[in-house]
Amino acid sequence: MYIVRKLTGSSSNKPYRCPGCDQVIPMATPHTVAWLEDDEESRRHWHNACWAKKDKRRPNTERTRNAPRF
Ligand SMILES: [Zn+2]
Repeated sequence: MYIVRKLTGSSSNKPYRCPGCDQVIPMATPHTVAWLEDDEESRRHWHNACWAKKDKRRPNTERTRNAPRF
């Protein structure tokens, strides 16, 4: 069970690295913080988009190569 907080960015004073895309979240950027209920150490900062993507990712659909359209 994850605890999820949406941050407006105003309280962030240092850049974080998003585990979803491995890119830095610049200072003062609205983003999502999530951690496991029982584990403060698991706390991570995510781009809002990356967190949303994580939620609805489905196995075997992301890397499927689409047939060319004619
Ligand atoms: Zn990201």
